[in-house]
Amino acid sequence: MRYIEPHGHMVSRTTDDYQAMALAGCAAICEPAFWAGFDRKTADGFYDYFCQLTQHEPKRAAKYGLPHYCWLCINPKESEDMKLADDVLALIPEFLKAKTVLGIGEIGLNKNTRNEMLILEKHVELAVKYDQLILVHTPHLEDKRKGTRLIMDVLKAAGKVKPERVIIDHVEEHTIGEVLDQGFWAGITLYPESKATPVRAVDMLENFASQRVWLNSACDWGHSDPLAVPKAMQEMRRRGHSAAAIDSLVYGNPVGFLSQSPNFKDPQALR
Ligand SMILES: [Zn+2]
Repeated sequence: MRYIEPHGHMVSRTTDDYQAMALAGCAAICEPAFWAGFDRKTADGFYDYFCQLTQHEPKRAAKYGLPHYCWLCINPKESEDMKLADDVLALIPEFLKAKTVLGIGEIGLNKNTRNEMLILEKHVELAVKYDQLILVHTPHLEDKRKGTRLIMDVLKAAGKVKPERVIIDHVEEHTIGEVLDQGFWAGITLYPESKATPVRAVDMLENFASQRVWLNSACDWGHSDPLAVPKAMQEMRRRGHSAAAIDSLVYGNPVGFLSQSPNFKDPQALR
């Protein structure tokens, strides 16, 4: 069966992972900009990272027949350094001209600090100015509900943000309802330990059936699984969900959201 990986940090993965994903039915990969596991010290470091995301990683993915797209931003962890964050924000408009950029992300909050909030607002302004989709990272564990509410308030306060053009990722049982109620898309991230397991994700889907949900693995340099989406598909099959329902969740939904960017091409149409 086919699926889209709408949130995978492929710069951290090996070519074996690309191969396994292609074999498992992956049809396209989207890679948000994120924290590298250490704080970058200069905007030049981000310049190189954005070149990697827009120029080099698509070539690596293409060797496995996979279209590769990306999102750009400075992540909340590093945006604590306001000067660095402003310098990185100034780099982004030039990179938005690349044909594989889908929008601004993953932006959001980490520790819900004042500086993080200010840089989040600037990212949202940038997205509005350049008519870009937005991908939001929500904080971990105990800060998640508060952070998710703060982020939704910033998005609404910005005025011109259409909620159907925003995906709020890493939702869990206690945040998915509010996110969907307010008209945003919700991303369920499948992690082996933290975030949601495939079993928890399918429980959530059964409680919150929605056309505005996607599944992703967020596979990165930490303990994560690039095949998490096909494993959730397997769990859905085990519970008796139809092939059409699974396809519409893991393929139709991400294609529906991402096609709001003129740069995203339905992989089916590319064949
Ligand atoms: Zn991520």
